[in-house]
Amino acid sequence: MNLIFMGPPGAGKGTQARKIAEKYAIPQLSTGDMLRAAVKAGTDVGKRAKAAMESGGLVTDDIVVGIIADRIAEGDCKKGFILDGFPRTVAQATALDSMLKERSLKIDHVIDITCDHEALVARITGRSTCADCGEGYHNVHKKPAKAGVCDKCGGKLTTRADDNEETVRNRLSVYDQQTAPVIEHYRHKGAFKTVDGMEPMDTVLKNLCAIIG
Ligand code: AMP
Repeated sequence: MNLIFMGPPGAGKGTQARKIAEKYAIPQLSTGDMLRAAVKAGTDVGKRAKAAMESGGLVTDDIVVGIIADRIAEGDCKKGFILDGFPRTVAQATALDSMLKERSLKIDHVIDITCDHEALVARITGRSTCADCGEGYHNVHKKPAKAGVCDKCGGKLTTRADDNEETVRNRLSVYDQQTAPVIEHYRHKGAFKTVDGMEPMDTVLKNLCAIIG
């Protein structure tokens, strides 16, 4: 089962991809997570990606296409994978088409999680994540019992450097200009579906599972 989750920043792609990955036992391939790890580790890719990530802009296509080409060649992707945050430009989508064709693979579902932009700003600027287990929190909708501490594992909650309002607005405008056209790339190919990301998280998950089967 090969899936693509699309949607603006904060729509819930990552949260839902994590749940679906667990349920269907396939890996979640988040280019954002991979790039943050590369920045943290100070690798060559991390150094090249850092400035764009901090401003809310996009990292160059050659970097992310290279990351995904290497990652889908790994053994754990044989059963399938969820692309979360990739492709984000039409050039990336075209590169992915060729990559999949070379390997005789196809995408089963492209699912766009839609959301209202103003709601996204409030969602993103209030969120935090456990540095140890990845559980997500929100300072209005899902407060931890003890401030700054994960309810599940006791790990420290962290906020992303690019989750401040100015950067979020830039990420949304980059989404409109460069990522929204990717929807058209897939809409005409079939297997494209939309899920309302404004619904409660459990409803979104239920609707995703209904599509995936
Ligand atoms: P995300 O965690 O998906 O919100 O990604 C965080 C940041 O990583 C983005 O704002 C971009 O700077 C960068 N990034 C992640 N995925 C891509 C991609 N497919 N193409 C270009 N930049 C990306």
